[in-house]
Amino acid sequence: MSSAASRDVLVVEDEPDILEVLVYNLRREGYSVRTARDGEQAIARALEELPRLILLDLMLPRLGGLEVCRRLRTREALRDVPIIMVTAKGQEEDVVQGLEVGADDYVTKPFRVRELLARVKAVLRRRGDGERSRIERDELVIDLEGHEVRVGRSRVHLTATEFRILAALARRPGWVLTRGQLLDRAVGPTSEVGERNIDVHVGALRKKLGPYRELLETVRGVGYRFRA
Ligand code: CA
Repeated sequence: MSSAASRDVLVVEDEPDILEVLVYNLRREGYSVRTARDGEQAIARALEELPRLILLDLMLPRLGGLEVCRRLRTREALRDVPIIMVTAKGQEEDVVQGLEVGADDYVTKPFRVRELLARVKAVLRRRGDGERSRIERDELVIDLEGHEVRVGRSRVHLTATEFRILAALARRPGWVLTRGQLLDRAVGPTSEVGERNIDVHVGALRKKLGPYRELLETVRGVGYRFRA
């Protein structure tokens, strides 16, 4: 893949003013930009262009953004393309669903262009990061391979579920995971434990992390994230 192609972004947006702002700013940053104005066009363009990243508005004519996301993820070639949802305020439920069907991140309208560009960059960078085995914040060390958490010299004793929740979040700092995703990753999809149970585990984790508790951020109406 050429370096030009590696900066291809597909912007899916039906509001002309917003589309124009996005296209203008992304191009100025050196991205090569393609556009789609409805959900069906989005899928067709994505399959044609195999972009490096998709900015996907959720409220779209013909086919909504959530359905677009779901369908893109069923295509082998597009399974791993980062998708950032662009949502209106009050669409938290859609955000949760979007993350669960495979979107990577979201930005809420009205957004600041600078913030959006930073997200685009961050998502592309994270995709290149690969798996890390160790996360450090000052004295806090999360050893993902050794399944161990320490603050300075003292070991933080976590239950297996707590560790898996922390690991899932810490692996991707700044990314929101929904309760459903945490349940899948930390407890297992067949568990009878409900999503609200995640809140209990996160509460316990925070207590054990003491001064580092604030690294586990609540994203209201959506889920949790490990502070970037
Ligand atoms: Ca729209």
